[in-house]
Amino acid sequence: MVNRLLVWASGSPRLQQQVTQHKLTRRVAHRFVAGERLEEALAVAAELNAHGIGGILDLLGEGVTDLAGAAHAVDEYEEAAGAIADRNLDATISIKLSQLGQTVDRAACVRNLNRILDRAHAVNVRVEIDMEDSSLTSDTLRLFQEAATGYPKTRLAIQAALRRTPLDLEALAPLKPRVRLVKGAYSEPVEVAHRGRSEIRAQFKYLTDWLFQYGADPAFGTHDGELVDYARAAAVRAGKAPNEFEIQLLYGIRRDLQQELANSGYRVRVYIPYGMAWYPYLTRRMAERPANLLFFLRALAGK
Ligand code: FAD
Repeated sequence: MVNRLLVWASGSPRLQQQVTQHKLTRRVAHRFVAGERLEEALAVAAELNAHGIGGILDLLGEGVTDLAGAAHAVDEYEEAAGAIADRNLDATISIKLSQLGQTVDRAACVRNLNRILDRAHAVNVRVEIDMEDSSLTSDTLRLFQEAATGYPKTRLAIQAALRRTPLDLEALAPLKPRVRLVKGAYSEPVEVAHRGRSEIRAQFKYLTDWLFQYGADPAFGTHDGELVDYARAAAVRAGKAPNEFEIQLLYGIRRDLQQELANSGYRVRVYIPYGMAWYPYLTRRMAERPANLLFFLRALAGK
């Protein structure tokens, strides 16, 4: 119930306006968001690199409603790729296609995506594509296929919760896709997605083995200890060394696990969100874990 309310809240513009203006909410957001400026995200990436952990820079913002907003995101990503290269950081950039105008003007979105891919490729920075809600899945898969044909190191997030995912991956198999496997952060109808924890875990495990067999350089985006352990064991079964796959985690979540994995020789990358548009991201993180809501309410009460 709380979860559904928070997922609803993540899409409410009115609530967003009220919450983001609140000083304390901004302070709480800092637990999960590097800051509002690129410079702050770069500093977090440098700090993680110093601890043997890579970064994934994510400019917050999704579902832009005009092409000016999309053009702005492209400029920001080009700047981020350049800055990563200039500072010689171990970091990728992760984009949302709806941030590039996917639902406003698809042709413009393709041009925007290509600009980012070209620029990132020129400075040797890798690009990852986030997966958004299920209304965008088919188109995102098509755009990824085009992107990965030109730039094979592009990575796509794939959601284990979606019922369609095993078939989607089979269709991508000829590409030997680079995938970030995640559970899925969006509230979807039961016809579209598994809802039960054990069903989602079971599909995640099946897809983990699939990726070791048919994918390239798989990444697992999860804080779920059982699934991290499963990926480690699946790697052994597939004859892969700890540096032949990646565990990805979110900034501010399970820092103990991040460091423990890196210390044990695993390749770890942390997703670093930054920018002004942090509200939907923050509410999705709360929906995942009610304890975060308590943390948030305590901060609001000044405790
Ligand atoms: P859970 O069962 O939710 O969590 C396992 C444990 O991790 C919890 O018991 C708790 O200890 C800890 N934990 C998890 N979440 C939190 C939290 N918010 N606060 C504090 N502790 C927490 N989803 C998409 O739909 N599209 C994407 O492109 C996408 N990209 C992602 C990239 C990365 C690097 C990661 C890590 C996740 C991404 N996600 C994405 C989100 C993902 O789909 C899940 O919603 C999220 O990771 C929570 O699921 P979990 O696997 O960590 O398992």
